[in-house]
Amino acid sequence: MSSKPIVACPQCGKEHQWDTGNRFRPFCSERCKMIDLGKWANEEYRVEQREQDLPETDHQA
Ligand SMILES: [Zn+2]
Repeated sequence: MSSKPIVACPQCGKEHQWDTGNRFRPFCSERCKMIDLGKWANEEYRVEQREQDLPETDHQA
């Protein structure tokens, strides 16, 4: 029983074999992993900007 499960890449949806030796899992490739990391970085940046805007509303009350 050495068959590996087939999983779909969360980024591009391409099906590939789950391999514990694959550094990019659950993604199919480094490219897909980097795209996903980039998305997270962008969202974090946006949240940070929103938090900086909040204290000003407290001051007016
Ligand atoms: Zn992919």
